[in-house]
Amino acid sequence: MRKITIVGAGQAGLQLGIGLVDQGYDVTIVSNRTGAEMAAGRVTSSQSMYNMALSLERELGIAFWDETAPPTDGVHIRAGQGDMLMVDWRAKMTAPGQSIDQRIKMPRWMEEFEKRGGKLLLLDADIDALEQFAADSDLVIVATGKGEIGKLFERDDSRCVFDQPQRCISLSYVHGMKPREDYSALNISLNPGIGEYVNFPCLTLSGPADIINLEAVPGGPMDRWHEVNTPEDHLALAQELIATYFPWEKERCENLTLTDDLGTLVGRVPIFVRKPIGTLPSGATVLGMADVLVLNDPVTGQGSNNAAKCAKVYMDSILAQGEAAFDDAWKHQTFETYWDYAQWVVKFTNSHLMPPLPSMLQVFGGCAENPALAARVANAFDDPKGLVPWYYDEAEAARFIQSFN
Ligand SMILES: Cc1cc2nc3c(=O)[nH]c(=O)nc-3n(C[C@H](O)[C@H](O)[C@H](O)COP(=O)(O)OP(=O)(O)OC[C@H]3O[C@@H](n4cnc5c(N)ncnc54)[C@H](O)[C@@H]3O)c2cc1C
Repeated sequence: MRKITIVGAGQAGLQLGIGLVDQGYDVTIVSNRTGAEMAAGRVTSSQSMYNMALSLERELGIAFWDETAPPTDGVHIRAGQGDMLMVDWRAKMTAPGQSIDQRIKMPRWMEEFEKRGGKLLLLDADIDALEQFAADSDLVIVATGKGEIGKLFERDDSRCVFDQPQRCISLSYVHGMKPREDYSALNISLNPGIGEYVNFPCLTLSGPADIINLEAVPGGPMDRWHEVNTPEDHLALAQELIATYFPWEKERCENLTLTDDLGTLVGRVPIFVRKPIGTLPSGATVLGMADVLVLNDPVTGQGSNNAAKCAKVYMDSILAQGEAAFDDAWKHQTFETYWDYAQWVVKFTNSHLMPPLPSMLQVFGGCAENPALAARVANAFDDPKGLVPWYYDEAEAARFIQSFN
């Protein structure tokens, strides 16, 4: 039986591990936290996921929350300053999205992984541990980019656009948000040069709730999270920033309470693409996956979706290799297959961190007038590859918009 060790029990590692166990592989997942520690910890993400990625979970029989998670049915994009909205369009998505608090999802998946025959090893893996795994396994996959093991993977400058975080991010998990009158939505508001407001429903420890992600341009007027010392301060600042910079969302946010004291997160996400192979001191090599290799700002909510899609690509590539060695050529090819898709997510996300391209404004203008075009763009959150080339090119945008008339 082929032996595979995966370091990191997140969306990527667990989904891949469960899939491989089902296919008869001998799989060990290494986690630096128990499920109970995760469940009792701070929120880690806003993890909105869309149909393509959710379908991969359904294929594996691990979409345990389809009946209980509040759906995200559509997308509503606005941009403005003061009370003036320059962009305002909305559309339903073909299929709903959902966000399951990772404090619920990962402990449940860890349990499921063991139930299906996987081995869970509790360890904060370091380079020595990776050496051991490499000696004992046919393949070692690193599905966590944090700490020293992330540094094994060299930055790929040719694929990087930024060399530092582009936003200071704050998450607030809340109850009490006034429901929208039409349908539940991924609400994205842009205040050019200042930041973004992102909100959608989720399922958290205390039941259905909402997540607000405020993205502040570093050094700008929303970048004030250093002032916050308590959960109460955090919520008060979030509400103040919403009222000031996204006043059209103020009314929905007047009666908020935090879901729990650990339902907040503040930080800056580095943005990079790395080379896929890490070489250990012994010369043995390991393969990175998902966030370890392609890390995006969460403004477009793509990382968990990417992790799910990466797990699917890696699983197919492992199965296709049969009994042949997982050599460096295979490792490269496996990542390049993922990059074929991930590059479009990087382009989409990076475009939303810079002043909007004229083509994007053209498309947004068209969306306000044409529901079919708006639906097409809304579904691009599920598959950003579908935005190419028209989202990024004025002539193509004009042609594309015309094709909807
Ligand atoms: C603020 C914020 C909001 C986000 N919002 C969204 C969103 O709305 N939609 C979306 O799709 N994505 C979103 N993301 C991104 C998404 O959360 C990540 O891309 C996704 O969780 C990555 O999954 P992963 O499996 O690659 O890694 P991780 O989730 O990072 O999992 C890695 C696991 O490995 C463990 N680990 C770490 N070091 C070690 C070690 N040395 N040994 C053993 N185990 C270790 C960690 O504890 C963790 O459990 C957001 C991210 C942030 C920060």
